[in-house]
Amino acid sequence: MISAVDKIAAMAPYALADLGPTGTISMAQNESAFRPSPSALHAGQQALAASELYPDPEWGALRTAIAKVHGLRRDDLLCGAGSMELIGALIAGFAGPGDEVLGCQYGYAYFATACQLSGTRYVTAPEPQLKVDPEEILPMVTGATKIVFVCNPGNPTGTVVANSALVRLRENLPIDVLLVIDQAYGEFCDPMDDPEVLFDLVARGNTVLTRSFSKAYALAGARVGWAYAPKAIGEQIRKILNPNNVSAVSQEMARAAVLDQEYLAELVRRTSELRDSFSDNCRVLGVQVPESGTNFALLRFASPMDAVRANEALRKNGLMARAMGGYDLHDCLRITICDRPVMERALAVLKEMEL
Ligand SMILES: *Cc1c(COP(=O)(O)O)cnc(C)c1O
Repeated sequence: MISAVDKIAAMAPYALADLGPTGTISMAQNESAFRPSPSALHAGQQALAASELYPDPEWGALRTAIAKVHGLRRDDLLCGAGSMELIGALIAGFAGPGDEVLGCQYGYAYFATACQLSGTRYVTAPEPQLKVDPEEILPMVTGATKIVFVCNPGNPTGTVVANSALVRLRENLPIDVLLVIDQAYGEFCDPMDDPEVLFDLVARGNTVLTRSFSKAYALAGARVGWAYAPKAIGEQIRKILNPNNVSAVSQEMARAAVLDQEYLAELVRRTSELRDSFSDNCRVLGVQVPESGTNFALLRFASPMDAVRANEALRKNGLMARAMGGYDLHDCLRITICDRPVMERALAVLKEMEL
């Protein structure tokens, strides 16, 4: 019989969102409510015509654009087929059997999967108020800890910790522990917080930031993410990534998207407005909603039973929310912010439910 190696055979398939029957509107995967930048679509179409060629393995034009927009060192940027590829490579490259990776209670589920793939133990620090807390992380660091992962803003919580608190976390971690800050939703917060203080951490040699084009940039289907990493770490990660990991079309779409900051700002503004008004309306109904810095809202109902009822009622109305049992948040649903008619429909369903 052909059998997979033990650690793979023991793994469950990655739990993607249940998207419901065709015709259902997904509010389950934090995709953008809006279309990509027209210049990104145009650039992708242009690149399509040269599809006989392999993509640029150095992601040259894309890195130049990211570096220019954020004021970063181009050589310290890496691009991935989604930030998931970069997260997987970081764990594969810097942790293994006998090591520990330390995440947070409600951290991104893929960290655990990538640890299983590399045979690394994954442990998590509590998030008391559904919020990453450096005071909870630090006591959990052991001699075996190789990497600490923090999502800011968090998924599925949506909550944000100040970048200054993450700088203090870095200062209190041992210097030989790699800190990875997953900023998949960073663009939603850049205007409010000071993104440079985290970019500056990278120069110290033991911090990596990851970002994504899937959320604020509305390019989930293109699969592009980037990391800002110290040179010595980036060189190791590069060996693990597929040499031609990001398609030529996707590189061009992401390049044009990052150069269209005006469009991004408009998407962020519109998404935030829809999120805040939906969240306020849910609070009026008695549902708890933590302040979110993302394109989704976490709805916390009075009981797990109410969360199940709400999920069923939404589903009956063609709307798929994301149940949170996998995070042990049985009283919660995570709702991706969609366009105004969809948000109004979701709210109407919740209003009718008599919570
Ligand atoms: C969506 C998401 C990612 C991965 O995004 P990619 O599509 O792989 O770029 C990573 N981290 C968090 C917290 C996310 O929500």
